Amino acid sequence: MSMRSKSAIVVGSGIGGMSAAALLAQRGCRVTVIEKNDQPGGRMIVYRDRGFVFDMGPSWYLMPEVFEDFFREFGKSPSDYYKLKRLDPSYKVFYGPDRQLIIPADLERTREIFESIEPGSGNKLKEYLESAKYQYDIAMGQFIYKEYSSIFDFLNRKLMFEGTKLHIFDSLDGYIKRFIKDKDLRKILEYTIVFLGGSPYNSPAMYALMSHVDFNLGVWYPMGGMGELSKAFHKLCVDLGVEFKFGEEVKRVIVENGSAVGVETSDGRIGSDMVIMNADYPHAEMEFLEKKDRSYDERYWKKKAIAPSCVLMYIGLDRRLEGLEHHNLYLSGSWDEHFISIFDRPAWPEDPSYYVSCPSKTDPSVAPEDHENLFFLVPVAAGLEDTDDVRERYFQRTVRHLEKLTGEKIMDHIISKRIVTHRDFSSLYNAYKGTALGLAHTLRQTAVFRPGHRSKKVGSLYYTGQYTHPGIGVPMVMISSKILTEEIVKDHG
Ligand SMILES: Cc1cc2nc3c(=O)[nH]c(=O)nc-3n(C[C@H](O)[C@H](O)[C@H](O)COP(=O)(O)OP(=O)(O)OC[C@H]3O[C@@H](n4cnc5c(N)ncnc54)[C@H](O)[C@@H]3O)c2cc1C
Repeated sequence: MSMRSKSAIVVGSGIGGMSAAALLAQRGCRVTVIEKNDQPGGRMIVYRDRGFVFDMGPSWYLMPEVFEDFFREFGKSPSDYYKLKRLDPSYKVFYGPDRQLIIPADLERTREIFESIEPGSGNKLKEYLESAKYQYDIAMGQFIYKEYSSIFDFLNRKLMFEGTKLHIFDSLDGYIKRFIKDKDLRKILEYTIVFLGGSPYNSPAMYALMSHVDFNLGVWYPMGGMGELSKAFHKLCVDLGVEFKFGEEVKRVIVENGSAVGVETSDGRIGSDMVIMNADYPHAEMEFLEKKDRSYDERYWKKKAIAPSCVLMYIGLDRRLEGLEHHNLYLSGSWDEHFISIFDRPAWPEDPSYYVSCPSKTDPSVAPEDHENLFFLVPVAAGLEDTDDVRERYFQRTVRHLEKLTGEKIMDHIISKRIVTHRDFSSLYNAYKGTALGLAHTLRQTAVFRPGHRSKKVGSLYYTGQYTHPGIGVPMVMISSKILTEEIVKDHG
């Protein structure tokens, strides 16, 4: 039997779900995507208010080649759907009101900035980035686009050999210290690990490859905002014949004779030959399946290093700001304490680092004229109790803090405000412990050690998205679906 006679239900229209839907539809499968929310994109949805267009989740378009490769599978290119712009400067870093660095897209100029702060570090940065490129090339060529069916697949001699060169057994923090002494400069090489929901202390040094992504491959922006990507994936799917059901929540996977044969939703039952789960993995396992059908029980999830949640603030201003670039990072003096408060002793942090995106610097379509669109992200531990008081406190403190950093009035100019944190991640996406990102990328949660693409208990039940290999981030969940589709074709094609 070929995939042409098969039908698939995809639960969730995140980028993982839509990538899987497109890849399966292209192979002839009849695909239905069921999404509880009213728009496609999952964590990459859009919120509109008073003329502002806020990207609710991702704001960094990284690894453009992964998007090129993905769309090429369909004879398309990202430019068929949206216009990309390379950002220059890439971002601005604040350490305090008097210490700020602007990181340009040009690597030579970045090396000069490093050199001016720590003599010798310009060459060290070059060395570090050469090694990061090597790590990236090996990881992309040999480890990332690969399904791991057993631990022996992972712990083979090649990995042991390459793994040493990739430094998978060293911590990122220790590795970076070999190159750069200045703590503030090190933070610039470490902050990217937050994209993967990790900390420099619990993540393998292999993830130095993120600096290759940052400095060498560059920081990009799709004009119109990241929501354009969600639209692009949705259009691709629709053109391939995928059916979408929005505003319909899956309640249960129907299992017969040990195989998934459909789902029960808020609107009724739908049968299919296979079910692909893009909804958060722990939620899907614990809510949609009987105990005997779960691959992982509650204890499994409790033991895992869950990636951070965050306090997100979508703020519209009736003025422009001079002191910000498109991407802005405040890298706090309490760097280590902040990571401890996320992973080791979960608590609301006192002096957290945070990120502010100001896409209206690049894109006039995301704010009314002479207004500014701001998105604040403060990473915090998953599972914290999030009350209205805490939200307001973080809102007040972060906005006031940015006023100090930029020397510009912000609070008095707010005309649109929305705060999203744990409770909303749970209600919007059924996120476990209100996590923004799923599972952190510790060594024990890498590759074969992430939850599988195939259910261990139920036939024709599959998983894609940020909990699975290769992990967190928009490019990664696209790759997850690519790996998964090849596995499904092996099973059903
Ligand atoms: C604030 C934030 C900032 C980020 N920044 C970046 C960035 O700059 N760059 C980057 O590359 N990545 C970034 N990420 C990470 C990236 O967004 C995610 O890794 C990726 O989008 C996850 O995609 P997914 O398909 O795995 O899951 P999701 O996007 O979560 O999709 C899962 C879908 O399942 C649906 N669902 C859940 N339960 C049900 C149910 N019962 N029935 C029907 N549907 C259901 C949900 O509504 C959701 O639409 C960020 C994430 C967040 C939250």
